[in-house]
Amino acid sequence: MNTQHYIDLENRFGAHNYKPLDVVLNRGEGIWVWDVDGNRYLDFLSAYSAVNQGHCHPKIMQTMIDQARKLTLTSRAFRNDQLGYLYKELCEMTNSHKVLPMNSGAEAVETVIKAVRKWGYKVKGVPENQAEIIVCENNFHGRTIAIVGFSTDEQYKDGFGPFAPGFKAIPFGDARALENAITPDTVGFLVEPIQGEAGVIMPPEGYLKDVRAICEKQNVILILDEIQTGLGRTGKLLAEEHEGVEADVTLVGKALSGGFYPVSAVLSNTEVLGVFMPGDHGSTFGGNPMACAVSRTAIRVLMEEGMVENAAEMGAYFLSCLKDIRSPYIREIRGKGLMIGIELLPEAGGARGFCEGLKAKGLLCKETHENVIRFAPPLIITKADIDWAMERIESVLTE
Ligand SMILES: *Cc1c(COP(=O)(O)O)cnc(C)c1O
Repeated sequence: MNTQHYIDLENRFGAHNYKPLDVVLNRGEGIWVWDVDGNRYLDFLSAYSAVNQGHCHPKIMQTMIDQARKLTLTSRAFRNDQLGYLYKELCEMTNSHKVLPMNSGAEAVETVIKAVRKWGYKVKGVPENQAEIIVCENNFHGRTIAIVGFSTDEQYKDGFGPFAPGFKAIPFGDARALENAITPDTVGFLVEPIQGEAGVIMPPEGYLKDVRAICEKQNVILILDEIQTGLGRTGKLLAEEHEGVEADVTLVGKALSGGFYPVSAVLSNTEVLGVFMPGDHGSTFGGNPMACAVSRTAIRVLMEEGMVENAAEMGAYFLSCLKDIRSPYIREIRGKGLMIGIELLPEAGGARGFCEGLKAKGLLCKETHENVIRFAPPLIITKADIDWAMERIESVLTE
C-alpha cells in the first residue's frame, strides 16, 4: 500500500480539521520515524513536544506492556497502586504540593480554570460569578470551547461561539500591562513561558520574574502553562527555572507520558488544588494506572538519561549553527534549549514550502502560522544528528 492510498482513506472518511504534511508514518525509534514507503526522517516536531524522550523509548514501552498485562483502568471510584507514587514523584521533582491528573492538555487547562475560580470565591473572597482570569494575546492553551473562547486567533473561534465570559487578554511579554489589567476580581494569570504555537515567541528577559512579583503582590494566582515548554524542552525541567521563579500552578502534559498515552497534570500549592472537594471535578481516565505507570517511567528516564541537560547543550549548539546560516529568507532565529523557531521574511513565500523542502531531504518540520518553521527534535538528539540535519537545513534555506 502506498502513501496515496492512506491519504485517500483519511480524506474520504475523516474530518478535515488538520492539514498534515503528506507523509504516512508507521514506525518510530528515537529521533527517527519511517513512512509506509520505507523512507526515514528525522522528527523535528516530536509530536509538538510530546515525544521529548524519543519515539518508542524502550523503558517506557516496557512499562506500558507490563502495566497493560496487570491493570489498565479502574476509574477513580477505586484506588490504584500507581497513582500515589506518581503524585509523590511529580511533587518531589517539581517542588509542588498537590497534583491533579487529567488526560489531555486542554483538560488540565479547564481544570485549573475551575480551580482558580473556586479559589477566588472561597479563599480570596471575590463575589460570586465575578472571577476574572487574565490571559495573553496569541496564547495557545488547547481547543475546548472555554479555551478557544479566550484565544485571540480568529480562526480558532470562528463559528464556535458563544463563549464563556470571565477572561481578559493582554499583550504577551508586557508586565506593566498585567499590572494595569488586574482588578479586585482577578483570580489568575494564565501564561506560557514561551509561546510555542504563536511561533516560538520569547518574552523579554525578566518577564516571568516581574509577573511573579505582581501576582504575589495582588494576590493573583500565577498559572504557567508548561505543557509544551516543560519537561526539559527548553533546557530546564520547567521553563520557569530560567528565571528562578515558581508558579502557583504549573500545567504539564505532552511529554509527561513520552508520547505513549495522553497524560496531563495540574501541579500546585496546597491552597489552589485544596479547594476541590469530592465530586467537584473528575475524569474517567484521569489518573488511571496505565497512565500513571507510563508517566512515572517517562519522567524517570528524562532525568536519569540526562535529557534536560542534553536539551540545553544541543539547543545552544543547534541555535549557534542556525545563526551562522546566511540566507536571504530569514528574519530572525530564536529559541531556548531545543525549542527553536526560524521566522522567515514575508517575501520568502511562507514556511510551508520550506517544510516540504525539508521533508524531501529527510527532515519532518511543521510550520506555525505563516512564516515560522519550528525545530523541536526529541531531547536525545546528538551533535552528529544536528550536523546531519544542518547540512540539509542550510541547503533548503539558501537554495
Ligand atoms: C498542546 C498544548 C496544549 C493543549 O494540549 P492538548 O493535549 O492538545 O489538549 C495546551 N497548552 C500548550 C502550551 C500546548 O502546547
